[in-house]
Amino acid sequence: MVKKPFVDPDVCISCGLCVSVCPGVFHFNSAGKSECYDPEGATEAEIQSAIDGCPVQAISWAS
Ligand code: SF4
Repeated sequence: MVKKPFVDPDVCISCGLCVSVCPGVFHFNSAGKSECYDPEGATEAEIQSAIDGCPVQAISWAS
């Protein structure tokens, strides 16, 4: 099963880090917040880098 990252829109400050680290996974939605649009758009390690790099810990693996 593919692990899917989840962005909490109430926590995201729209810094753009995850979008630039994993452009195939995250994009900004119409509200200007990051969201996952394709969990298979990067390797798990690349997504983990985005999770670790988020300055406000807005991204987590969905369970
Ligand atoms: S790295 Fe975190 S704060 Fe920055 S856009 Fe992504 S989810 Fe939002």
